[in-house]
Amino acid sequence: MQHEGEQDREGVGEVEAAEVADHVAHRELEQHEEPIRHHGVDAADQQEARLLARHEGGDGGQRHAPSLIAGSGRLGSPNQKEARVSQAKPVPPRNAEMLVLEVVRSQRVTPNMMRITLGGDALARFTPMGFDQWFRLFLPLESLPENRQTSFALPKRIDLLGYVQFLAMPKATRPIMRNYTVRAFRPLENELDIDFVAHGDNGPASRWATGTGVGDTVALLDQGVLYNPQPADWQLFVADESGLPAVAGVLRDAPRDTVGHAFIEVADAADAQPTDAPPGVEVHWLVRGHGEKPGTLALATVQAFALPAGTPYAFVVGEQSLPTALRRWLVNERGVPKSHVTFCGFWRA
Ligand SMILES: Cc1cc2nc3c(=O)[nH]c(=O)nc-3n(C[C@H](O)[C@H](O)[C@H](O)COP(=O)(O)OP(=O)(O)OC[C@H]3O[C@@H](n4cnc5c(N)ncnc54)[C@H](O)[C@@H]3O)c2cc1C
Repeated sequence: MQHEGEQDREGVGEVEAAEVADHVAHRELEQHEEPIRHHGVDAADQQEARLLARHEGGDGGQRHAPSLIAGSGRLGSPNQKEARVSQAKPVPPRNAEMLVLEVVRSQRVTPNMMRITLGGDALARFTPMGFDQWFRLFLPLESLPENRQTSFALPKRIDLLGYVQFLAMPKATRPIMRNYTVRAFRPLENELDIDFVAHGDNGPASRWATGTGVGDTVALLDQGVLYNPQPADWQLFVADESGLPAVAGVLRDAPRDTVGHAFIEVADAADAQPTDAPPGVEVHWLVRGHGEKPGTLALATVQAFALPAGTPYAFVVGEQSLPTALRRWLVNERGVPKSHVTFCGFWRA
């Protein structure tokens, strides 16, 4: 059943005209700003080099080597105001093409997490960037009889014009749009995994993930990577379960000499997942109490923790209050430069 107004929400923020304006501003900002530089090297190039090194060596060429040509398919940051203030600039995607894919597998990996595996010919055109690569996911309206058909109305590319066209679609037929993270990409098998928090039937994406079946169609629009580390003595990663795929992806792809701490809060101890973290990053799984607001435990734990000395680079994602409160604390109480905090509200309780 379609809940009133739900197709307009996209985790944090409304997909409306204001966002289109914001998108334009953001794109202009991206075009005119100097790239973030440290030690004379562009941060995106550093990340690219690390990725290429891992793509060429570390994983036996399992993943495609990413193209060096930056794409322009961003619809703006997931939480644009904050992402811009944070100054640790996101890395844009390389392919702005809307990819129509189909479900090839669905499994409950832990009590509160559904893993949906996508495939299809269009996946060959997906350009993996690793880390916390995220995308806009378009789901057909479940109320429509064609829900289980193999195509649904979408512009082929979403540039600004395509996005305006998307917003102009009647709400009764406009697909639902939500933000998700690439949990894993296996080019040889032509498969991409997404981990959905199964938070109940109150959200169309959660509901879709728990009920979808082989052959169902979705569309995906790459949005790039938020993680963009600045020179630091150590790194701090904090997330609730919605950010588990992002933090797990960053830990998997971070240089092996990265040091620091990762705090990942989940609802159930069995929701913890194995991570391929660098040996110098200690992963702390936090299990919140029943009824406790997500993110509260992670915030309190990090604030009480004996954090290492020196300047960290922090990556904080999850329910809105967690990244905003932790970023404020890091900057105001711990003296961490704003440029050293990437923070993003993934959803709002
Ligand atoms: C860059 C980015 C990457 C993300 N990656 C992932 C990912 O890989 N996996 C993932 O699961 N989520 C991810 N999210 C979060 C996801 O986009 C939101 O949780 C989204 O709102 C879920 O949509 P929905 O249709 O299920 O619920 P909505 O329609 O958005 O919300 C319906 C109700 O559900 C509640 N709700 C929404 N999300 C959650 C949640 N996680 N837990 C409990 N209650 C919730 C809302 O407060 C609301 O009351 C990401 C968000 C961003 C911005």
